[in-house]
Amino acid sequence: METLYLIKPGELELKTGNLREFESRLRKDIERRLDGRARVDIRPGRFFLRVPEGLEEKAERVLSRVPGIVGYARARTCGKTMPEIGVLALEVAREGREAGHSTFKVEARRADKGFPLDSYGLARELGGLILENVPGLTVDVRKPQFTVYVEIRERAYVHGVVRKGQKGLPAGSAGKGLLLLSGGIDSPVAGYLMAKRGLSLEAVYFNAYPYTSREAWEKVRDLARIVARYAGDMTLHTLSFTEIQTAIKRGSPEDCTTLFLRAAMVRAAHLLAGEIGANSLVTGESLGQVASQTAENIRFSQAQTDLPVFRPLIGIDKEDTMRTAREIGTYEVSILPYEDCCVLFSPEHPILRARPDREGPAYVSLGLEDLIVEAVRTREILKVPCEV
Ligand code: ATP
Ligand code: MG
Repeated sequence: METLYLIKPGELELKTGNLREFESRLRKDIERRLDGRARVDIRPGRFFLRVPEGLEEKAERVLSRVPGIVGYARARTCGKTMPEIGVLALEVAREGREAGHSTFKVEARRADKGFPLDSYGLARELGGLILENVPGLTVDVRKPQFTVYVEIRERAYVHGVVRKGQKGLPAGSAGKGLLLLSGGIDSPVAGYLMAKRGLSLEAVYFNAYPYTSREAWEKVRDLARIVARYAGDMTLHTLSFTEIQTAIKRGSPEDCTTLFLRAAMVRAAHLLAGEIGANSLVTGESLGQVASQTAENIRFSQAQTDLPVFRPLIGIDKEDTMRTAREIGTYEVSILPYEDCCVLFSPEHPILRARPDREGPAYVSLGLEDLIVEAVRTREILKVPCEV
């Protein structure tokens, strides 16, 4: 026996221009995450997923994580006759009762206007049927403990609980972004948020081996794996920044070291983005959170690229970012205590308001470009598949 899921896709309606492309991306994404073992049918405003027996748990994990879905429900389907619909409505109502609920309502939608009863008539008839046949239930249209949904389309569909999806846009519909992924709390969340805006992602991590440990890298890899559950298949590029950091430490005023490191990171990310065909960079920066994240200092590093740099956390409080990190499962990994690459220097009084006319020439005089090109060229590349 197959299990049927009714899926309400996200903002697809709004984008009538690209509707077909969006739909087909979402369909393929769902099918691929289920290893081609399930099939999606696209209908106006709804998708239907048919899953072979035994694959339901996996399918539900996919549906709850894939970008582009508002909600989904396990559904039953039958012909468009009231006796058949009644049988299914009773099944759903009994399930609700067994789950301990005592109030319900019926919500009906008649997409097929040829069906003799209108939505109101359907809801009333089925409500009556349920009251007669399932003891212990009463109707509450305002705040029911559960709802029996009925949709009349090319067939009739009946379902109960609707689970939430991630909303947003299908992965890849906005092209590819390059996520600057550190081991911190913020950047994985930033990647997750931009994935929901339709970016597929590759990630870049700058290490400073041997000053940073193997464990620090493993932590970043584990974070990438979690982000990939939502964003889809990713690739993690690891660049060695040891020489670059050494050059910065040797040639810069102490208060500028972090500022220059951030500029070098953005420059390297810019070059890498060109190689992999990314249309944007993504960071976890949040205005004012640390010294390197003042408007002036962000401007300084931003000058190293003309790509848009997406910073979805720029106006978000740390508390809220932490909540999202917990929800998506990155928090527990992010708080593991491994050093990040800035350990090589953390100036006591970092510069707060970089000026292009003052710090710009000092940065240029470091002559980092060749080292940066080399770091990009000799990077380690790891495929991070979307695991369900
Ligand atoms: P996070 O929690 O994401 O590490 P943060 O609050 O620690 O952020 P910074 O260390 O200033 O802030 O880093 C700002 C952003 O720069 C990060 O969100 C990330 O996108 C990027 N970044 C910082 N360090 C690295 C690194 N070693 N490798 C890749 N990206 C980095
Ligand atoms: Mg950090």
